[in-house]
Amino acid sequence: MKFGGTSVGTPERMKALIPLISDDDRKIVVLSALSGTTNSLVEITELLYADKIEEASVKNEELRSKYHGVVDDLYATDEFRKSGHELIDSHFEYIRNFTLRVFTRLQEKAILAQGELISTSLFQMLLQERKIRSVLLPALSFMRIDKDGEPDAFYIRENIRRELKKYASEKIIITQGYICRNAYGEVDNLKRGGSDFTASLIGAALKVSEIQIWTDINGFHNNDPRFVENTEVLRELSFDEAAELAYFGAKILHPYSVNPAREKNIPVRLKNTMEPEDPGTLITSECKLQDYKAVAAKDGISALRIKSARMLMAYGFLRKVFEIFEAYRTPIDMITTSEVSVSITIDNPQYLNEIAKDLRELGSVEVEENLSIVCIVGDFRTERTGSAPEIFEALNTIPLKMISYGGSPNSLSLLIDTKNKTKALQLLSEHLFNTNNGQ
Ligand code: ADP
Ligand code: ASP
Ligand code: MG
Repeated sequence: MKFGGTSVGTPERMKALIPLISDDDRKIVVLSALSGTTNSLVEITELLYADKIEEASVKNEELRSKYHGVVDDLYATDEFRKSGHELIDSHFEYIRNFTLRVFTRLQEKAILAQGELISTSLFQMLLQERKIRSVLLPALSFMRIDKDGEPDAFYIRENIRRELKKYASEKIIITQGYICRNAYGEVDNLKRGGSDFTASLIGAALKVSEIQIWTDINGFHNNDPRFVENTEVLRELSFDEAAELAYFGAKILHPYSVNPAREKNIPVRLKNTMEPEDPGTLITSECKLQDYKAVAAKDGISALRIKSARMLMAYGFLRKVFEIFEAYRTPIDMITTSEVSVSITIDNPQYLNEIAKDLRELGSVEVEENLSIVCIVGDFRTERTGSAPEIFEALNTIPLKMISYGGSPNSLSLLIDTKNKTKALQLLSEHLFNTNNGQ
């Protein structure tokens, strides 16, 4: 059971988790940091990188005093309030110490880990105060990524199993989402939103009966509720559909979090902590075909267009193009080709300039940034007719920069300017799901 930032965001919300975890089933409870905390910690690290020590200290103090307020309301007894205040002070003293030395990536990761370390300790103390038995299992003792930044499934499985053997009779095992160690044993993380990933990695390692992601909405909606009104919850999704939507920007799930569950065929249930009786969304291997199921969008996309007469009737040209992306360890999202040109999108612009420079050895290169991929999930089997015209009709006022169709039986993706994204999502809802967007 993974509870996200809002689900542990206030003392009231933390107390409201207790009935949700108090049945007789043995469970692992994965907690995120309190909502807003990781953003604040990111700001502190950015200030420290910029050598703005004073501003970083002010932010740190603000966060520390917010947590002292949380402690005051969370516990009923002076004894636990006192321990809570001590706990908070020790974590913020630890962060403050980093303002006194040279700041590196190592320290950045150590600071970012504090949010989940604090939330899990506060929650376990709450259970202790209520005399509910639980164990706090440090994620840093089993969660690990390899030198490529990928989860080390073997290490995770062996270590969490060994650790859990020590607590065979315990029903509630609490651990931190998001944080892990890297191949060198240093503190690291699974990237923003990574607590979902923690939950599914643990679920897969232990082959649990179900992975539950508890959040602030009644499951997976058919469009992004942050940009579109009248979105509707989907009661069932297949792993492939959910993975596609998560990868292409549906924030409710971390982009890679479906994969471990899919590999071990473990159902994933999305639930709302504010409305626990709602059935939420169930993600399984079963796919119930429907013309259009859902839409998602991913920002921060860059496109590279390579044009070269050498591509005409040539073989091996694309290999040369791909090798350049491989050399910079940059994954490709979308690709389209014509006789003499190829367009490619990436979501990690770290080596964009270097990649463009190397590609210029092969032909002329145009780079475009501030783009978004819109992904439509539904029935896109190649024998089906009529879906492309419906989508293009819906978006006939939006310039389409690339179209990817036929790569997957369950999705079609489009590349557009980010400034057109909200409009595109709304138009798709109106035309494909017949919602009027409150207009
Ligand atoms: P948590 O802190 O619990 O991990 P997140 O904020 O990461 O929660 O994810 C839940 C949020 O995802 C929702 O509040 C909603 O605004 C957003 N969201 C984006 N796309 C979707 C979607 N397709 N279905 C449901 N929620 C979505
Ligand atoms: N606290 C982390 C974040 O805000 C991880 C998570 O919430 O899933 O990104
Ligand atoms: Mg999240």
